[in-house]
Amino acid sequence: MSDRLARNSVDGGQIIYLIDCGRIVALKFPQFWFEPTPQGKFMLNIAFGQSKYYVDSLSENTKRGLRQKVRRGEYPSLAPIGYINDVRTKTIVVDRKKAKITKEAFELYAEGASRLEDISNFLAQRGILSRGGKKIHKTRVTFILSNPFYTGLFKYDGELHEGKYEPIISKKLFDSAQEVLKQRGKTQRKQKNEPQAFCGLIECAECGMMITAEKQKGHIYYRCSKKKIKCTQPYIREEELDRQLSALIQRVSLSQKWADKLLEMAERDKEMSAQSCFAFVQKAQNKIHAINTKLQRLLDGYLEQDIEREIYREQKTKLLLEKKSLDEQMARIEQKQNNWLEPFQNWIKVSLTLVKIARDNNLLAKKVVAKEIFGSNLHLNAREARGNPVQPYISALRAAELVGKKTESLILVPEVGLEPTRPFGHIILSDARIPIPPFGHFFNLLPL
Ligand SMILES: [Zn+2]
Repeated sequence: MSDRLARNSVDGGQIIYLIDCGRIVALKFPQFWFEPTPQGKFMLNIAFGQSKYYVDSLSENTKRGLRQKVRRGEYPSLAPIGYINDVRTKTIVVDRKKAKITKEAFELYAEGASRLEDISNFLAQRGILSRGGKKIHKTRVTFILSNPFYTGLFKYDGELHEGKYEPIISKKLFDSAQEVLKQRGKTQRKQKNEPQAFCGLIECAECGMMITAEKQKGHIYYRCSKKKIKCTQPYIREEELDRQLSALIQRVSLSQKWADKLLEMAERDKEMSAQSCFAFVQKAQNKIHAINTKLQRLLDGYLEQDIEREIYREQKTKLLLEKKSLDEQMARIEQKQNNWLEPFQNWIKVSLTLVKIARDNNLLAKKVVAKEIFGSNLHLNAREARGNPVQPYISALRAAELVGKKTESLILVPEVGLEPTRPFGHIILSDARIPIPPFGHFFNLLPL
């Protein structure tokens, strides 16, 4: 029954999902009925499981039959061009006329002067066409020219087998054709689509497709990669896009003055947190010492039989738990104290180099930092690139914008306390407060 209802496990899952949504309320079969109760769903699941087992073992049996055929060297599938399936003997035999043409096609291609299209034409002129009666597509030609079947070896289930049929291409000819395929594949790709610097970085604001590049009359133009249905977005010259991206990168860069102040703040905060960390650790160690003393006294009292066993156990548990959490706190504090400063300093370094990268002519370096700063938030609309930076560059951007308006009004205020990482601190301007976010491992990705 349910092997009809659910042809595969996805169907079964969908049916149960529809039941969960309430879109199916009841199912009836000749020997089985179902109601949307937990028990009903459970039973249905079992029924689907049985049905999947049935289907799986059926296909396993078919596979087993095919595998036996393969082991005998019989090709268990449709014969390629140049061969025919002999239905009476259930074997594969050479199609003399087509085999000769196929061999000639291999020889022609192995000479190295023909394109795949030429081979397709060669075959078409001699009456070898696709099943639809058209010229064989060049991907199909590649498939033919790289099919080891013709040398007497066939692939089945990802494995190569020795066939019992007659080969029509020598291994030597086959190898020469493979060499040409490899060589021509390389040069063709190079000529056609040399990837340009900003490819894969910016999305089209109109349709969301990636912006790609094209060389025209000595200039590189970037455009939306949507082809079939037209997107109304115009092309943009590489020089112009470069200018815009540089400006975007420059906006989130830090001035040396800012960098110095931030680093100074970080140093101060490091000292402060080191002090408070030291104080905390000292306090915790004192507490642990006290707990150890108490534990010793407790044990003495118990051994002297001044304290009941129950009370001894209870007290001991309490003290040990307290000690454990103090140990953990200490470890955490020591770790946190050390793992924020370096990433922070790296951010400053990177932000300082942005000015230089934006000014320089290294487009690939610009692409790398743009990806880092904007993630996938870069869009091109009417020849204008726009992007919102990701953290922590948002903070840098906002700070830079405000500082541009209000000079000399900035004070840096680190967050006081034992956990300086969340947030790291605040940049306080005369009437704005900008948090500096915590810093993660993400800086390690930047090429410095
Ligand atoms: Zn588009």
